[in-house]
Amino acid sequence: MTQTAAARPLTPATVSEAFTQRVGTAPEGVWAAPGRVNLIGEHTDYNDGFVMPFALPQRALLAARRRDDERWRLVSVDLDEEHELGVDDLVQGSPGWQSYLAGVVWVLREAGHRVGGADLVISSDVPVGAGLSSSAALECVTLAALADLYDLEIEPLERARLARRAENEYVGAPTGLLDQAASTLCRAGHALFMDCRSGEVEQVPFDLAAAGLELLVLDTAVAHSHVDGEYGERRASCEAAARVLGVPALRDVTDLDAALAALEDEVLRRRVRHVVTEDDRVLRAVELLRAGDVAGLAPLLDASHVSMRDDYEITVPAVDDAVTSARAHGALGARMTGGGFGGCIIALVEHGRAEEVGAAVAADQTAAGHPQPRWFSAQPSAGAGRV
Ligand code: ADP
Ligand code: MG
Repeated sequence: MTQTAAARPLTPATVSEAFTQRVGTAPEGVWAAPGRVNLIGEHTDYNDGFVMPFALPQRALLAARRRDDERWRLVSVDLDEEHELGVDDLVQGSPGWQSYLAGVVWVLREAGHRVGGADLVISSDVPVGAGLSSSAALECVTLAALADLYDLEIEPLERARLARRAENEYVGAPTGLLDQAASTLCRAGHALFMDCRSGEVEQVPFDLAAAGLELLVLDTAVAHSHVDGEYGERRASCEAAARVLGVPALRDVTDLDAALAALEDEVLRRRVRHVVTEDDRVLRAVELLRAGDVAGLAPLLDASHVSMRDDYEITVPAVDDAVTSARAHGALGARMTGGGFGGCIIALVEHGRAEEVGAAVAADQTAAGHPQPRWFSAQPSAGAGRV
């Protein structure tokens, strides 16, 4: 489809060749991990609630080979950059793209796994900074490669938890488990229903084509600069509300009306209403997909967007306008996806119409003075593994 991120072909062969050129020998293998879109369940993960992402066809590819010394050579083909680190360089809070890879080496060693040196050459076509989790793709592909190369027996959910720790504790970005769980656990043709408290997952069939539908992903190309602060503020509000309500997490609110009556602060009331209704929408979405009713998702997408806009207050005009425009051009339902303050929208459209609706929304966006969006039609794809 038009407006995709990468003009160059990204295949295991091209990354393998790039490795051989840089390192002088062939890699032992090539691994992949995808970006993701969250179908529904926004800002519920850190409230011990429910999420339902699926993996994108866009992915990070990593060619890798073990080394005899305890050194890590990290190469980004996309940025044409190379870093070489020793054990002493594995320091929490390190900046730069290489920290997403180094953080995984660090966290594996922290967790007691025996990981030696490696040459790692990476390339990715996951759009960066669009809320499609290009960062988790880097972490999860690194973890998959090192686990295979060094024969580490780590369950998939534990892999996701370790990759998340790399992002939280090494890179220093306070994210929930959603991104790494999606990149690690998703299956082609399925959405991943996940209980963020227990870590329990269900692969839910998500067959857009059989339903005569497509899912348009449109990146508004708007990135908010204070997003970390806003994210921290929302988390803090949820924790404060849970304390007032005497529950471990907002996931445990069973009577929304009683909870709202118990909260004096109007802002906290809105935050709680979003989280509780969003959890409920995820549960209803799962029911629909289990029954094969993909079109039934449409009103839930719409309601999720209104809740993020009015109650959680994490949308921005460019995102709201894109959703309105997508609906005006025939989308059955649409919502912002991701943490908010910019990033992507998703829109459920009739099969064969994604390109047309994407182009129409893009025209509306630029006419309204917003940046030129990029868009594509998403297919639920495979999670991390060797390719
Ligand atoms: P998102 O995960 O939503 O794309 P993040 O800010 O979490 O946004 O992660 C983006 C960062 O990940 C980039 O700033 C860069 O450091 C790193 N990154 C992503 N893709 C690549 C790539 N292909 N090569 C090098 N670094 C990348
Ligand atoms: Mg990220």
